[in-house]
Amino acid sequence: METLDFRRHRRLRRTAGLRSLVRETEVTPGHLVYPIFVEAGLSGRQPIEAMPGQDRLGLDAVEEEARGIARQGIGGVLLFGLPASKDEEGSTSWAADGVVQEAIRRIKRAAPDLVTIGDVCLCEYTSHGHCGVLRPDGSVDNDSSLPLLARMATSLADAGCDVIAPSDMMDGRVAAIRASLDASGYQDTPILSYAAKFASAFYGPFREAAGSTPAFGDRRGYQADPANGRIALDEVHTDIAEGADMVMVKPALPYLDILRSVRDQVDVPVAAYNVSGEYSMLMAAAERGWIDRDRAIDETLTSIRRAGADIVITYHARQWCEARGYGR
Ligand SMILES: [Zn+2]
Repeated sequence: METLDFRRHRRLRRTAGLRSLVRETEVTPGHLVYPIFVEAGLSGRQPIEAMPGQDRLGLDAVEEEARGIARQGIGGVLLFGLPASKDEEGSTSWAADGVVQEAIRRIKRAAPDLVTIGDVCLCEYTSHGHCGVLRPDGSVDNDSSLPLLARMATSLADAGCDVIAPSDMMDGRVAAIRASLDASGYQDTPILSYAAKFASAFYGPFREAAGSTPAFGDRRGYQADPANGRIALDEVHTDIAEGADMVMVKPALPYLDILRSVRDQVDVPVAAYNVSGEYSMLMAAAERGWIDRDRAIDETLTSIRRAGADIVITYHARQWCEARGYGR
């Protein structure tokens, strides 16, 4: 028989061993960050309806959770707080005995090596639910919000937080937070900035989880327009110039092109946030038997890594590790 002349790509796909040998992209537990919601006054756990498989945690449940996360080898935990009370300025965000500050101290006792990342934003703590303080006309006052965000960041560092992650999208916040951390002796505390954070419909389930829906209006006045890739890149460069040690793209899946561009343009570590809506869509389809949950999770996390993320922040972190037997 005559031999045809063409490339046989299937040769390297033939067995699991060959596929493993030539695999370009790996996900490991150490690349993953697991977000948790800590609620003041809650005892135990409260399931989050819009995010099947995720719970709000009371402070009494934080230590066991931290030990479980550390046992799986997960790289870090990202903390969000639901405070006991809210006001116009979000003052419970910088309380020394605030819910996240207390959670960090408990995590550090339970799992000292687990990296704690503190989200910095006022929207979970303000009565109006916006990410900064308001002017009389109801618009968010960028410059007056900066000292408050810096105060929250420094209070988290006081509690032992390893990484400060501002998500508010105020201009100048990275510089303001860096100056405040340095002035308080936290020169060694890194900043992971939510640099390319888009005004996304995929944050919907998070707002139930964190109780942070704005009382009026939306966040399109300060978060990036989903249509703007170049402007998002500009914002990434600005945050790095202000002192960000790492930058984030959020959400992940509808913005993998942005993630790739960021990865190609900067040399600092890049994180991507696989957000609540991405999580809940996958879980809802899996619950209906429409997709294979664990394979879809693995493909999702692999695609985010392949697009250039060093760090993947994902609600699937524990499920992915569980499916692979980590921490058993
Ligand atoms: Zn916010």
